[in-house]
Amino acid sequence: MSIEGFANQFVCDLVAYEPGKPIEETARELGLDPADIVKLASNENPLGPSPLAKTAMREALEVAHIYPDGGAWKLRKAIAEKYGVGMENVVPGNGSNEIIELLCHCFLKPGAALIAAEHAFVVYKLMATLFGADYIEVPDPDFVHDLDAMADAITPETRLVFIANPNNPTGTLVGQDEIDRFMDRLPDHVIAVFDEAYHEFLTDAPDTVKFVKEGRNVVVMRTFSKAQGLAALRIGFGLASSPIAALLHKARQPFNANAIAQAGALAAMADDDHVRKTVANNNEGLALFHEEFGKRNLRYVTSVANFVLVEVGDGDRVFSEMLKSGVIVRAMRGYKLPGWVRISVGTPAENRRCLEVLDKVLAD
Ligand SMILES: *Cc1c(COP(=O)(O)O)cnc(C)c1O
Repeated sequence: MSIEGFANQFVCDLVAYEPGKPIEETARELGLDPADIVKLASNENPLGPSPLAKTAMREALEVAHIYPDGGAWKLRKAIAEKYGVGMENVVPGNGSNEIIELLCHCFLKPGAALIAAEHAFVVYKLMATLFGADYIEVPDPDFVHDLDAMADAITPETRLVFIANPNNPTGTLVGQDEIDRFMDRLPDHVIAVFDEAYHEFLTDAPDTVKFVKEGRNVVVMRTFSKAQGLAALRIGFGLASSPIAALLHKARQPFNANAIAQAGALAAMADDDHVRKTVANNNEGLALFHEEFGKRNLRYVTSVANFVLVEVGDGDRVFSEMLKSGVIVRAMRGYKLPGWVRISVGTPAENRRCLEVLDKVLAD
């Protein structure tokens, strides 16, 4: 018998996550200079990391021989103060992706179910599969989460409902009224998880932290990977009511958030200037993409995040042809959107280069 026969079947069945194509790999394969490659494939911050975070991380390197503070005391304290919750409500994660996994550890097993929208962030499905749970996909007309339909889909087996807000890869947002109505219908055996990775880019963000303060069955996920520009560090957090947070703390590894990341995240929290510049650059880039896609009669989904989903005919072809010209975007076949690509907002120069290369590829 092959070794797979002895492995956990859920793992064998898994289709692995496909990340944005790395710059170094692209350069190697195509014989290009990494400096000439533009990556608009992973919703990263085109302005780089927070400068305050860089300074703090250099200092933290000097004591890299010491294990991190496993309780992430300083970072959790700063987060608790910022959001007006208790320190016990703050759970650090190795990226906010780890919070998804911790939730699954705590609440999923074969027979249990996780609900998400049809075009939701793909990691929810991967995690449900990994834990042998049922993954329930609810249609999202016009690429917007339908929270009423998601509440209708709840059964006695449901444990987790994931609401990415704004969602990736669609860039759409559900508003406060829909959220409040959904929360009114949430039964006691279900946890609502608001994945708010792009929160900083919003001008009119719904308030979900209030549910944590009210002690509801809610987890709010945030990350330092996007607006703060710390994607390589792998640091994010969940805000959860105390009983849920206590379970998540039990499920995590003692040193899941490393010391360099903790130092960087703490400093980035004070770097309002970097976030302001990032958001201003993003607003400009979003407006440009929306306008330019419109001029070309390309169908796109109006986004409030830092990327745009656009229909280009054959997403795989456009991805690989653009790649040859040194512009990396993301094909969307994995999201059952084979005709679309997702393009992250870059610097003004990167956005222009992306549009030029896209035009060239679409003209072929
Ligand atoms: C980028 C992203 C995250 C962030 O993941 P990290 O693990 O914190 O880097 C989480 N959720 C969604 C929907 C995202 O797009």
